[in-house]
Amino acid sequence: PYQPSETVQGALELLYNLQEELAVITGMDAVTLQPSAGAQGEWTGLMMVKAYHEQKGEVRKKVLVPDSAHGTNPASASVAGFKTVTIPSNENGLVNLDELKKHVDSDTAALMLTNPNTLGLFEQEIAEIAAVVHEAGGLLYYDGANANAILGKTTPGSMGFDIVHLNLHKTFTGPHGGGGPGAGPVGVKEFLLPYLPVPRVEKDGDKFVLNSNYPLSIGRVKGYHGNFGILVRAYTYIRTLGPIGLREVSEGAVLHANYLRKRLEPYFDAPYSQICKHEFVLSGSRQKKLGVRTLDMAKRLLDFGYHPPTIYFPLNVEECLMIEPTETESKETMDAFADVMIQIAKEVEENPGIVLEAPHTTVIGRLDEVQAARQPILRYKKEESAVKEKEPVNV
Ligand SMILES: *Cc1c(COP(=O)(O)O)cnc(C)c1O
Repeated sequence: PYQPSETVQGALELLYNLQEELAVITGMDAVTLQPSAGAQGEWTGLMMVKAYHEQKGEVRKKVLVPDSAHGTNPASASVAGFKTVTIPSNENGLVNLDELKKHVDSDTAALMLTNPNTLGLFEQEIAEIAAVVHEAGGLLYYDGANANAILGKTTPGSMGFDIVHLNLHKTFTGPHGGGGPGAGPVGVKEFLLPYLPVPRVEKDGDKFVLNSNYPLSIGRVKGYHGNFGILVRAYTYIRTLGPIGLREVSEGAVLHANYLRKRLEPYFDAPYSQICKHEFVLSGSRQKKLGVRTLDMAKRLLDFGYHPPTIYFPLNVEECLMIEPTETESKETMDAFADVMIQIAKEVEENPGIVLEAPHTTVIGRLDEVQAARQPILRYKKEESAVKEKEPVNV
């Protein structure tokens, strides 16, 4: 990354081409590849929201976030200096438009939204939602971490959004939960281009250049050019599949989620039982009445070799299990998973102890996750000092 641009033309060409591809995929006009995670993309987008309003001479303090949003949304908003206001969902799990209208005003900087939302449901009133926010002078931010449901079908741009981030470590090759490193590119509509991070990768004639000549830019948000390896991987994925292949990704992801949903719904509570997009939620409240929590069932899945799905998220569903099979699983894999889930549901009724004591087959059993986070033991010490290690560490 320290080499002069003339000597790294191939790398810059790849970055430039990826920016262009992602702009088309999201319906945006310009893209930065710098942010290295979804959360950093959100923060980058919100800093642009702030710069945009300030440039217009306005100070807007509020960012609206639905109660089904990913936890990073309100966190990014507050790190960027905004106050978050939670918008409750309606009984169908979608944005409550009346509540939204109540909260939108001249202090509203932006609304952050995921569509389809984290319940896997598509916000059908998105055009009206966008109009309400825009009429008040606010901007629309699209959390596109999991874009699996919309590739080649629709774009955040055509839904009325002004800013979007993608998680290349989720949608474009990385299995959800597969860890990092990440890449959270951010796309914007033309009017926000001047605020994008610098340096921008641009094309000048037949040369690729780094341009920092954007006086309104929020500045650099990441060293070098982002996580280059992940960008190469995502670019390879996009070019290998092409437009038709990307559309098939979404068709597969949606079909798989609905297939699993239908297989599992008889055995668990399904608070939003309707056609879903790339993911769906079940509730373990039926099992909770028998004394077994969703956490216990997730631990039991480990005994069968499954990485458990996301649990206790979204927050607006009790004892939540959020299942996102993605486009890549075969019918055999999904059936095997469904069979195990059904077996666990039966165990809860017939032999709950085996679920409550799970996992039985892993090297270590249940970790105290709270203590692990609050009092991390960050280096190995001989046994005699282990007790001392457990003293609270100021983190
Ligand atoms: C994963 C995720 C994020 C955050 O992305 P990170 O790369 O983990 O920071 C934000 N929103 C949604 C909907 C996500 O699934």
